[in-house]
Amino acid sequence: MQNGWETIIGLEIHAQLSTESKIFCGCSTRFGDEPNQNTCPVCLGLPGALPVLNRRAVELGARAALALGLHINKQSIFARKNYFYPDLPKGYQISQYDQPFSANGKLEIMTAERDEAGHPVEWRPKEIAITRLHLEEDAGKNVHEGLPDVDRYSYIDLNRAGTPLAEIVTEPDFRSSWEAYDYVNHVRRALQWVGASEADMEKGNLRCEANVSLRRIGDERLGTKVELKNLNSVRFMQRAIEFEVDRQRSVLESGGRLVQETRLWDDRALETRVMRSKEEAHDYRYFPEPDLPPLTVSEEFIKRVRSSMPELPEARRRRFMEQYGLSFSDASQLTSERSLADYYEHAAKASGNPRATANWLRSELLRELETGGLLASASPVSPEELGALVRMIDEAKISGKQGKDILVEMFKTGKSAARIVEEQGLVQVSDTAEIDGLIDEVLLANPTQLENYRAGKEALFGFFVGQVMKASKGKANPKVVNERLREKLRG
Ligand SMILES: [Zn+2]
Repeated sequence: MQNGWETIIGLEIHAQLSTESKIFCGCSTRFGDEPNQNTCPVCLGLPGALPVLNRRAVELGARAALALGLHINKQSIFARKNYFYPDLPKGYQISQYDQPFSANGKLEIMTAERDEAGHPVEWRPKEIAITRLHLEEDAGKNVHEGLPDVDRYSYIDLNRAGTPLAEIVTEPDFRSSWEAYDYVNHVRRALQWVGASEADMEKGNLRCEANVSLRRIGDERLGTKVELKNLNSVRFMQRAIEFEVDRQRSVLESGGRLVQETRLWDDRALETRVMRSKEEAHDYRYFPEPDLPPLTVSEEFIKRVRSSMPELPEARRRRFMEQYGLSFSDASQLTSERSLADYYEHAAKASGNPRATANWLRSELLRELETGGLLASASPVSPEELGALVRMIDEAKISGKQGKDILVEMFKTGKSAARIVEEQGLVQVSDTAEIDGLIDEVLLANPTQLENYRAGKEALFGFFVGQVMKASKGKANPKVVNERLREKLRG
């Protein structure tokens, strides 16, 4: 909402389902193979070849639907979407149309606007209506680079043709680019979490399109919408929407009219450009796919899929807050990815102190993991070892400062905290007799300061603490030093 205008955004996501083989044939979905290596008469669209539905694609589609709170239809129909394109040898794509696999979901996401520096301002829940999730096959790919005579020829690689996709369409429920941004991240995490898709935009196994329009606040009618494509990351999508909102507003405010069209985001020029106008848009002439029977799924199938799914991220975040007393931001970060959430729970159990464990994980370990480009599941420090370290600090065996150095060493060498403590002789001294001895030495060595202190210069207390710590080579437990010193100075 800016200057009397309201932004209306709807999103379409295409997510590649993580099957080993294609949706209607047995060819591999492996990425990066020699062009056209993974093809057969079915995915080449040769006459007479018949598609057979991949059961695994249906299971993963169901996981995706359930993870997004969608209703799964008992029966859905595959339909031919007819259009001609060189990377689509059949002349049609097998998709779903008026009877999709899944529909009518209400998804609650957490969203926040961002300040100038890009930091979230205030997280709030927002409900998004998901219109549908349907199953379909991907097309092939035209190759215009890296091959001989590309100035005269285009090449076609059909390895990707027939890869299973879930297309997820929302109602025009988003009112800002950041809401769209938070939604796509929510969907990505949900799909990864349940193992339905790798959902990696950089790898192209999650693609996103946005429909953007503006209307005067108070208007009931929707304005002319523009479709944005070529959004290769969530951040680019957010920027493209911002650019488009500004562009549309300046057209409308200067009395111009918008054209319904498709625009591509150019991430070098940081602007959107016309790809095609509505006049050139396709009429797909959908009709039911005659070579595939209707897809029916039983109540039992849905139940089985549901019971095989892990606890979902939002539920886990709420549980972390209740069970472990974590703040919203701690719990959100620790459930941003499933292996991190698993790691945290194991470490918290080992330490017996969930909040301290969350702090150590967030402030110290995550930094090391990020530097090394590692997921929590690949951490050289096991959750049990992190837990053991937190416990040693809790039990005052080592200081927090020592703990930080030890963790870095653990990360580097894979050694346990106990072993590093032993090898480096780092054990914190909490023994009062030993500390008393050090205090006596320090007081004897600094008679002037002692006199001044006794005369009322209490700020010198810190000086004595420092001297005792120094005398212990940093190994004395500061808490015990403080207690004993106070006791001695009183006497
Ligand atoms: Zn094939």
